[in-house]
Amino acid sequence: MSVVGIDFGNESSFVAVARAGGIETIDNDYSLRATPSFVAFGKRQRILGVAAKNQAVTNLTNTIFGFKRFLGRPFDDPRVQEDAKRVPFEIVRLGNGVGIKARFLGEEQVYTPEQVTAMMFTKLKETAEHGIQAKVHDCVISVPSYFTEAERRALLDAAQIAGLNPLRLFNETAAAALNYGIYKQDLPEPEAEARNVVIVDCGHSAIQVCVVAFNKGKLKIIASTSDSDLGGRNFDAALAAHFCVEFRSKYGIDPESDHKAYMRLLTEVEKLKKQMSANATKLPLNIECFMEEKDVSSSMCRADFEQICLMLFQRVEFVLQKCLEDSKLDITSIHSVEIVGGSTRIPGIKLLIEKVFRKIPSTTLNQDEAVSRGCALQCAILSPAFKVRDFQITDVQAYPIKIVWEESLGEDGAAEIFPQNHPAPFSRMVSFLRKKPLTLTAMYTGKIPYPTHEIGKFSVEFKNEDSEPRKLKIKARVNMNGIFSICNATGYEKVEYEESVEEAMDTDVQVIPANDDHPDAGASENPTPSSEPTNHSQNTDADVNMEDADKKATKKVQYKSIDLPVKSLTFGLSRSELDEKIMSEVHMISRDRSEKDRLDCKNTLEEYVYDLREKLDMDLQSFIEEGERQKLTETLSYFENWLYEGGEDEKKEVYANKLEELKGRGEPIKERRIESEERPQAMKQIEISL
Ligand code: ATP
Ligand code: MG
Repeated sequence: MSVVGIDFGNESSFVAVARAGGIETIDNDYSLRATPSFVAFGKRQRILGVAAKNQAVTNLTNTIFGFKRFLGRPFDDPRVQEDAKRVPFEIVRLGNGVGIKARFLGEEQVYTPEQVTAMMFTKLKETAEHGIQAKVHDCVISVPSYFTEAERRALLDAAQIAGLNPLRLFNETAAAALNYGIYKQDLPEPEAEARNVVIVDCGHSAIQVCVVAFNKGKLKIIASTSDSDLGGRNFDAALAAHFCVEFRSKYGIDPESDHKAYMRLLTEVEKLKKQMSANATKLPLNIECFMEEKDVSSSMCRADFEQICLMLFQRVEFVLQKCLEDSKLDITSIHSVEIVGGSTRIPGIKLLIEKVFRKIPSTTLNQDEAVSRGCALQCAILSPAFKVRDFQITDVQAYPIKIVWEESLGEDGAAEIFPQNHPAPFSRMVSFLRKKPLTLTAMYTGKIPYPTHEIGKFSVEFKNEDSEPRKLKIKARVNMNGIFSICNATGYEKVEYEESVEEAMDTDVQVIPANDDHPDAGASENPTPSSEPTNHSQNTDADVNMEDADKKATKKVQYKSIDLPVKSLTFGLSRSELDEKIMSEVHMISRDRSEKDRLDCKNTLEEYVYDLREKLDMDLQSFIEEGERQKLTETLSYFENWLYEGGEDEKKEVYANKLEELKGRGEPIKERRIESEERPQAMKQIEISL
């Protein structure tokens, strides 16, 4: 069993693993800890991570980034449309959702955001596998605390497409909190007053803030607030917009009209933004041969930056303030503020944190790696294969959830079942009096960062041949992944019996009070909505016998509980769609592997050609007759040219055969040289032994 944590970021992703010595962040194939969340398509292969970002400028329309923001979203979503304008690749309608167009293997392809995310996961999975030298399936993946049902289900689908088995989707803020709490030796005792710590994660696309109450061995998130469209990229965009105006009047060029120029500008302003975090003085911005062969230059200081981004800073302050208010804590009971995420390095944001919470932000956590490390820790806690100190985590439900059903029999027709910041995971039993089958819709209420409020439709089939309504109970649940479901339904059947048999019937008879709620943390669930009847005997509700009011002297009526099937219609891929995408990813992985093998063979041949030619001019010169040497050198030069021209795209076997052919000529020369070196050595040894 693998114990892996993945932080899938908008800009970059991290992989951490649990080992006997602790949690370790794994380097990728470029020996870097951060892997850019970039996926690119080439003529012969997929390019993932660092290599994808490196080739972006030369393969602009086929290099995909920022795809985390498209997960689970409808094509008509204004946010999708807004992002689509800014990216150099093409976004198309695919059913109701988003399709990402790219040219791969010489053909036009359309991939879903889930598929592109799965490709990124394939890369991160390989990185982890390389790190632990074992296959990786089980893992914990980070998810923004603001993700709604559709986005969470899409992320789970992406993980499955990549062959990962997420034991949990872990909110990014909760992951950072766990990474903080588990190492703290001085937390208050479990029953003592908690230590309240604020965690601020401002990344590339969003800001998330939460207040966490820590005690020894446990953490409880009290409040969680976010702005899903307020991160480093918004600061970059504001700077880019500023320079676009300046360059238009100064140089008569319009960088916004040209994707390539705009992308370059974004890269340069991001660098400038980072420099301004360390330096308050005026800093230059120079881009050579920017557009129409014009060099452009300008400058900016931190105060200008803060002025240009004033509105963004105000929004940051609003989120911080809102979280404090939602926590209902007095400012004096905030112990400290921990910052994570790249954009909390912006001095203006640090100052706002200090202003709102009256605490200098601390950096106890590794700003970039805290989320992935927290995920690895959670994976270790959940994995039976790993021994780790248990740590109880209670997260919150970020948006209130209500259920709505058709109004009949005087029932209300709607009920809020999870208020905002309600502890999660959590189950709630809801009772109905029904004559007919029940169909209900679950919805978020209030403001959410998603275009529709609907979570899913659920129907409970049941037969009632009596004239009076019957009691029906459903169990609604928000599970560890933050995903909602109606996980079971129970009906009650009338059973008449003689008083003398009462005891024998006892165990079957249950009437459960309505609207009881009980926390039900820790139970792992299959995230796929289930239409299977669930086992009622697992419920922890109190069992109450009820007697029929009109009972005759010798007859009694009791109610026997029966499991009712629940049909769900929610977001996410169907089994067959999922299987098809899994197959497609498996196919692409094997194609990538064979392409890698082919390139490895080509590189080996190329290296052999260079190495032998160099040696023929140097230390092998005297071990081959001059005419032969010249002939072999010519052959090597021929091969070198061939590798760049006609032989550039040959099959792996062709390179392997050519290598054998060359080795047949080169190796005997090398052997002659080794022999001649070993001969005097051997002679010397014979002399010594004599
Ligand atoms: P998200 O959390 O939104 O999914 P992410 O996790 O990929 O995205 P991070 O890696 O936390 O994001 O942060 C990346 C952002 O931080 C980028 O916008 C980057 O420009 C910004 N950033 C990094 N270092 C600095 C710095 N020194 N000053 C200002 N901004 C910085
Ligand atoms: Mg992040």
